[in-house]
Amino acid sequence: MIELEVRSLNAWYGAAQALFDVSLTVGAGELVVLQGLNGAGKSTLLQAILGLSQRQIGIVCYQDKTISDWPPHRRALAGLGYVAEDRRLFGALTVRENLLIAARGDVAGNTARVLALFPALAGLVQRRASQMSGGEQQMLAIARTLMTSPKLLLLDEPCEGIAPLLVESIRDALLALRTDGMPMLVAEQNRILADRADRVVTLVSGRVA
Ligand code: ATP
Repeated sequence: MIELEVRSLNAWYGAAQALFDVSLTVGAGELVVLQGLNGAGKSTLLQAILGLSQRQIGIVCYQDKTISDWPPHRRALAGLGYVAEDRRLFGALTVRENLLIAARGDVAGNTARVLALFPALAGLVQRRASQMSGGEQQMLAIARTLMTSPKLLLLDEPCEGIAPLLVESIRDALLALRTDGMPMLVAEQNRILADRADRVVTLVSGRVA
C-alpha cells in the first residue's frame, strides 16, 4: 500500500525553479532515502510535501487523499511529521517543555515512548535545549515531532554534523521506528541510512536521477 505519493511536483523560489516534475512514493512501513548534493532540492521537496514551499504545482497524495491544496497545518494534523534541518527547537525551554509544547494524543504514553527511544534525553529533561549538543538537539527535535503522534515522518538531514556516537543512536532510533512500521522519507547526503533503505531516490539539480 502506498502511503505518500508525489506526482510531477514542481517548485519555485521567485522565478527560480528548484524542483522539476519530481515523482516518488513511500509505501507502508518503508524507509525511503532522498539523496543529492547541496542544492539538489532535497529540503525543497520535503517542504513542498508539507505545503511549506513558496510556490508549487503538482500532486501530493497521502493515504489516498489528494492534499496538494491543503494548508500545512492540515497536512500535519493528517499525520505528516516533519523535522527541519535547522531543528527549530525552543532554546529557552527545557527538554520536557519542548516535548510537551508539541504534544497531541496520548501525552504520557508518547513521552514514555520517546524517552525510551532516546535514553540520552531521559537524563536531560530539565536541561534547556540551547544548552545541549547538536546531536542531543537533533534527538529532541525528532522526539518533539514524535509527540505529535505522526503517521509518516519527513526528516531533513537528521545525522548531519553530529558526533559519531550520537549518529549511531539516532540511526538506531530511526531504524527502530521503521521496525515498528513508521514510514519515513529521509533526506541525507552522508549515507547513514541509505544502506538500510527500502529505496534510494537521488535528486540532481531538482530532478529525480
Ligand atoms: P542542502 O543540503 O544544501 O540544503 P538541498 O538538496 O536540500 O541542499 P535545497 O535547499 O532544496 O537543496 O535547494 C534547492 C535549490 O533551491 C538550490 O538551488 C537553492 O539555492 C535554492 N533555494 C533553496 N532555498 C531557497 C530560498 N529560500 N530562496 C531562494 N532559493 C532557494
